Amino acid sequence: MLKIAGRSACQAAVRLLGACACGVLAGVALSLAATVPATAAELDIREVAPGTWALIGQTEDLSPQNAGNIANAGFIATPEGVVVIDTSASKALGEAWRAAIAARSPAPIVHVFNTHLHPDHMLGNQAFPAEVLATLPATRQAMHDVGEAFNDNLYRMVGAAMKGTHVVVPATVAQAGVLELGGNRIRVIALQGHSAADLAVFDETTGVLFTGDLVFWQRAPTTPHADLVRWRESLAALAALLFRHMVPGHGPLLEDRRGIDMTRRWLDWLEATFVRAAEAGLDMNDVLALPLPDEWAGLPLAVSEYRRSVAHLYPAIERRVLGGTP
Ligand SMILES: [Zn+2]
Repeated sequence: MLKIAGRSACQAAVRLLGACACGVLAGVALSLAATVPATAAELDIREVAPGTWALIGQTEDLSPQNAGNIANAGFIATPEGVVVIDTSASKALGEAWRAAIAARSPAPIVHVFNTHLHPDHMLGNQAFPAEVLATLPATRQAMHDVGEAFNDNLYRMVGAAMKGTHVVVPATVAQAGVLELGGNRIRVIALQGHSAADLAVFDETTGVLFTGDLVFWQRAPTTPHADLVRWRESLAALAALLFRHMVPGHGPLLEDRRGIDMTRRWLDWLEATFVRAAEAGLDMNDVLALPLPDEWAGLPLAVSEYRRSVAHLYPAIERRVLGGTP
């Protein structure tokens, strides 16, 4: 399912995280004392709706300074149990996240959903009860195949803050459908496009939608495992939901569809840029050197994610254009 057939796990991890000079970074990372947000009090946790909370990661690249805390997560607390959406990027962050949840709800954690395979969302799994971890089938397979390579690469980029972290692949397959829990009607939605399997969670009772990385807001989207056609279809499906609050995979909370629209515009712009470049006969170095339009000038990580997306997407688009297929 994962579109990395024929590549080694290490190559896949590097493809995800960008063309970093890993050997150099490893030395730098290990020599720095990371400023780990080691306690729940240091995490940015916001109440989205009654009983519903989000952990807001920093809109930055992975670094020793942010300890890998760059992705959002969330939980829904009901009297009958807590549903957790994503576990952050390390054992330490997962433990701090779990402590923050326990401080806000005495109810047991009954479900922990991993929205997708990427390590900034799932390497905190080991801080949670293994029996309640669940995700979609293709995500389980990918975590099994490449999860430890992701973990190794995060250790290189983040350093000591990753200490003791290892991958815990959920034993349970998440079922798409409605979960009735403690008076909340929670819809588990199986989508795809940012990766081979993207899980979204929509609490119909409170109107809170957790999108995973199908939606980025005020931060450039990442595309290491993207299928642009399916991603657009999934964005349309999310836009059709009657949500009142949105927790995107990265970036601030929203109460409208601007994150969906921004993600869509970014994907459309990327594809149009690459198609035009291929038609003009540009090679990858030429495409890397193209200036970004004004629309994206102020967007955090726009340049670095654009450059990564050239590597992720341009070869296939170039083949498609040169082959004459639509
Ligand atoms: Zn992701």
